[in-house]
Amino acid sequence: MDDFREWAVRAAEWGVDYRERVRDLPVRPPVKPGDIAAQIAASPPEQAEPFERVFADFERIIAPGMTHWQHPRFFAYFPSNSAPASVVAEHLVTAFGAVCMLWQTSPAATELETVAIDWLRQAFGLPEGFQGCIQDTASTATLAAVLVMRERALNYAGNSGGLSGTPTLRIYCSSEAHTSIDRAIWFSGIGADNLVRIPIKGAQRGADPQALRALIEADIAAGYKPAGIIANVGATGVGAIDPVAELAAIAREFDLYLHIDAAWAGSAMICPELRHLWTGVELADSIVINPHKWLGAQTHCTAHFVRDPNSLVRTLAAKPDYLHTLGHDEVVNYSEWGVPLGRQFRALKLWFVLRAYGLEGLRSMIRNHIAWSGALCEKLRAAAGFEIVTEPSFSLFSFRYAPPAAADLDALNLALVEAINADGRIYLTQTRVDGRVVIRFQAGQFECTEADVLGAYDVITEIAALTHARP
Ligand SMILES: *Cc1c(COP(=O)(O)O)cnc(C)c1O
Repeated sequence: MDDFREWAVRAAEWGVDYRERVRDLPVRPPVKPGDIAAQIAASPPEQAEPFERVFADFERIIAPGMTHWQHPRFFAYFPSNSAPASVVAEHLVTAFGAVCMLWQTSPAATELETVAIDWLRQAFGLPEGFQGCIQDTASTATLAAVLVMRERALNYAGNSGGLSGTPTLRIYCSSEAHTSIDRAIWFSGIGADNLVRIPIKGAQRGADPQALRALIEADIAAGYKPAGIIANVGATGVGAIDPVAELAAIAREFDLYLHIDAAWAGSAMICPELRHLWTGVELADSIVINPHKWLGAQTHCTAHFVRDPNSLVRTLAAKPDYLHTLGHDEVVNYSEWGVPLGRQFRALKLWFVLRAYGLEGLRSMIRNHIAWSGALCEKLRAAAGFEIVTEPSFSLFSFRYAPPAAADLDALNLALVEAINADGRIYLTQTRVDGRVVIRFQAGQFECTEADVLGAYDVITEIAALTHARP
């Protein structure tokens, strides 16, 4: 390309302008499937194109087709904050374009990763025994954890001998667990039939420890080999929280590996007053938390804490000759701690964000999100025709529109979510609770204000009345 400096500056400035005007855009773009692809050339150009034209097409075709995750009224899924400090870090990281698989392939990236993970450990109030690394996603961190469960239960013979002829392994999680756990079970060869669902109980929809004990005992009696437990702290659907201390005691008793999925809610543990929600976490073997969700570090940035890195390395590390770093046996090579070999430099954005906001700055944002979301929940509870289905878990609750005489409430609520999202002022998603369609609400975007969160009330009630009135 002709002028790297000019375009790099223009791209950075475009990003700054975009963040200034994003609040005025519809959160979800008003496009239909295929609309964007139809505007893009079907084949690559044989000859170089002027970059002016490339950039113009980006502005004309791509930008209007984006869903705006950095929009202050993005209340769908979970947040994925890309704080300005993180954007600046990513500019620098892409300038290096380094592959940070071994200490030697980027010493500063490796050493900063060690320090940044330890900063996070302290920020979450985790004991010194935990080390960790930054994975791309919670999905691959959980896959790594399940592979460790498998190898540990098979005395590290599964990688060489495969699973045929070994005892059938069993892993336990509640029905609220994220689909990344199902997939990890498939990919590890353990098989979906051996992912045992623990019944849930109570308003927090946590796994029932007594039921877990009974399941494990029945499995042992039937000749299965229990290998591990995966606990939720803030599950994706409606924020279910398992009783970690009680599950940890069972894990100890039966010598099972305990992995905690706190991908979303873990970030909130920088607030000491919330840590009672994961009491017992210090007994876990591994914990996954996504600072790219609620702490502002641009995706991908998954903190994977482990008590015993050796079990990870024994399970995952391959050492062909070309990966030996001669004379550097004492260094850590983080590619041995995860599934991918190549890794981006992910610690820089975390370091920038933690320093740019400070823990107090991040805590006050998270506390605001929880308080504002709770206030919206109370307004909806009081609104005619609305019911709260699950109470707030951190900044997430679910509700349902159930006006008297409405016939098919699932269809009505699906129509309501679609109508709200087509309107564009806010963005919400739905899930099912005990078989019924509910609408989720979470607040967590860094730029959102109290007015944004409480203003969702007007949009929801206004569109609900219209949706219901429609024949
Ligand atoms: C977001 C989320 C995941 C998946 O995270 P990825 O990083 O996208 O793989 C898993 N579990 C929970 C509880 C989550 O919130």
